[in-house]
Amino acid sequence: MKIIDGKALAAELRAELKTKIEKSDRKPGLAVVIVGEDPASRIYVRNKIKACGELGIRSYAYELPETSTQEEVENLLDTLGKDGDIDGILLQLPLPRHLDAEKAELHIPFEKDVDGFSAENLGLLMKHKEKVVACTPLGVMKMLEKEGIDPTGKHAVVLGRSETVGKPMAMLLLNANATVTVCHSKTQNLKEICRSADILVSAIGKAKFVTADMVKDGAVVIDVGMNRDENGKLCGDVDFENVKEKTSYITPVPGGVGPMTITMLMYNTYLTANKE
Ligand code: NAP
Repeated sequence: MKIIDGKALAAELRAELKTKIEKSDRKPGLAVVIVGEDPASRIYVRNKIKACGELGIRSYAYELPETSTQEEVENLLDTLGKDGDIDGILLQLPLPRHLDAEKAELHIPFEKDVDGFSAENLGLLMKHKEKVVACTPLGVMKMLEKEGIDPTGKHAVVLGRSETVGKPMAMLLLNANATVTVCHSKTQNLKEICRSADILVSAIGKAKFVTADMVKDGAVVIDVGMNRDENGKLCGDVDFENVKEKTSYITPVPGGVGPMTITMLMYNTYLTANKE
């Protein structure tokens, strides 16, 4: 069994990316827009800005008050969309309840969509002509690649079907020639399906949901979940201590998928500035 060290992998990828950015003609510029006071979102934004600084990416933070109107948010996105200094725009989610995130995201031009959430980028993924792919699933694929795990012919089971994680994850695995099953809250026989997985990716947001009896011997288990356990400690969707011995590879939480996600955001920002 190997515990995949997401922090170390992310550091390695960031070093490679930093060199690429140093050599590139254009230093990428990322605008991060946050609306309101959500403490977790503020920490995420701070971490993203910090990562930009370390890699030589220009970053611009726009902090709008909680009371902002839909029109004010959309106007800012329109302005940033036209700003030649800005290559990528990230709208930090969730937005305050009175705002419509999906509608606001339509004001981020496709070329500046560093999250890969736009219909265009999702469509390209569906066509296996990926351009900018959602950061978390992309980070998982980079992890598999770095560990030499080839999904070809494997049964990959994805728990969760959100547009930001589960669906793009399933599509990436399918494009990488896995046989993919996607599970969600209405899935029947979930345990049996999980037990047949060679690669099990969990993205449902339920602490320690995946137990040892749901995992096949020798499976690769990737835990995307970020939850709090009964003691308020950060944990994933997987009951790590009891599951790990059954696996060939497993990611911990924290220190697994999380560090890869911000790194992929940096990578996507680089891509929007420098077409590869
Ligand atoms: P989400 O939008 O809430 O989606 C959760 C998905 O899980 C839904 O498709 C839901 O099914 C499914 N689900 C919920 N309960 C289930 C159950 N008992 N059995 C089977 N499926 C179930 O969440 P998300 O944004 O995809 O995020 C998922 C988790 O990943 C969260 O813990 C989040 O914090 C974490 N996350 C981590 C990172 C990172 O960088 N590490 C990044 C993004 C998200 P239905 O569709 O039927 O409702």
